[in-house]
Amino acid sequence: MREILHIQGGQCGNQIGSKFWEVVCAEHGIDQTGRYQGDSDLQLERVNVYYNEASCGRYVPRAVLMDLEPGTMDSVRSGPYGQIFRPDNFVFGQSGAGNNWAKGHYTEGAELIDSVLDVVRKEAENCDCLQGFQVCHSLGGGTGSGMGTLLISKIREEYPDRMMLTFSVFPSPKVSDTVVEPYNATLSVHQLVENADECMVLDNEALYDICFRTLKLSTPSFGDLNHLISATMSGVTCCLRFPGQLNSDLRKLAVNLIPFPRLHFFMVGFAPLTSRGSQQYRNLTVPELTQQMWDSKNMMCAADPRHGRYLTASAMFRGKMSTKEVDEQMLNVQNKNSSYFVEWIPNNVKSTVCDIPPTGLKMASTFIGNSTSIQEMFRRVSEQFTAMFRRKAFLHWYTGEGMDEMEFTEAESNMNDLVSEYQQYQDATAEEEGEYEDEEAEYEQEEGY
Ligand code: GDP
Repeated sequence: MREILHIQGGQCGNQIGSKFWEVVCAEHGIDQTGRYQGDSDLQLERVNVYYNEASCGRYVPRAVLMDLEPGTMDSVRSGPYGQIFRPDNFVFGQSGAGNNWAKGHYTEGAELIDSVLDVVRKEAENCDCLQGFQVCHSLGGGTGSGMGTLLISKIREEYPDRMMLTFSVFPSPKVSDTVVEPYNATLSVHQLVENADECMVLDNEALYDICFRTLKLSTPSFGDLNHLISATMSGVTCCLRFPGQLNSDLRKLAVNLIPFPRLHFFMVGFAPLTSRGSQQYRNLTVPELTQQMWDSKNMMCAADPRHGRYLTASAMFRGKMSTKEVDEQMLNVQNKNSSYFVEWIPNNVKSTVCDIPPTGLKMASTFIGNSTSIQEMFRRVSEQFTAMFRRKAFLHWYTGEGMDEMEFTEAESNMNDLVSEYQQYQDATAEEEGEYEDEEAEYEQEEGY
């Protein structure tokens, strides 16, 4: 057994995390009380990755829920699947984080963190062979962002050889609550670069655009955005939850997708895009699914893959379809667009088919790409950060919690370095690398080594 421990924190984290569990329970045939009501052995074969089996035969999510205020978790508890979670695993405070990363990371959150770690430890001890953790949070607020990254660093310290996957919601002014979100997000990215192994980027800017432009929703709500997120999370974790070879655990996923350790921020795409409660107009063919999945309009991150190059990518198709047709279609995309894939990583695109489609669809596909174009999103946040930081605007809210301005400067340059690294590998060609080696060889000769 290779268990994953799920953690959700803050308002956004708890909202998307709960949706994730609703979707996953439905896919595995688990009802609101934790009883199995499904019809296929495949639903239970790897159910232990995400669920504990209680002695009474019920399945209990291996989930820890945390927040600095009780409101969101109260509504999770009274929601449709509220009773499925282990009551002891709700850890919350009363103070709130007031959209202040410093409160989540250094003051209010630091006070509550040991209670969270106690629950995490208890769950980890119950595991046969824990593969790692997944954290759901937003980066724009105070709790999911500040306290979420504090928890990630504490877990890294205590479980250095376990994997850490995050589902991180990036802020956008199109759906924003407050002006300081670029600060909170940049301070978080600084942490995620160092302490997370793989980050699935969920960018509210892109989610809003998909709702508005593609799904024609005139005023998208968080519910609409979260519908896209939960479909994507289900797709991304499908290989971890059902039997199969490709990306079947967190480490294999990382090995396939991460050529350089800092570059572990993934663009994810989903097809077909549907809005909440809507019926799919018609079933798609494999070529249509493939085409849509690679389309920048289907990416949950506001960056255009055609402005960069893919270092690596993985595609998961779900439903009954021909593996041969999937392979042909995927090769076709790569052959027609070869300049958008770095040529110095051969066979950098992998695909697989999982027989079980998501609930309500006959077929679907999920895409995970490590694209250098993701720097566009980091640049956007960085520009917003710098505009305010140049004038030291709003800094007193952070220094008032004991933070040093230096940490802002370091976070800013770490994110700018990340952007440069993406650019460097975007520009690298196989020839250049070769030439460079030749030059080096000559140099070594001259020096008489
Ligand atoms: P926290 O409770 O202190 O962690 O703060 P929030 O989670 O409310 O963080 C605010 C950021 O999260 C803003 O960028 C919001 O736009 C975003 N956000 C809040 N709730 C949701 C949600 O349910 N879905 C999505 N996609 N974004 C959210």
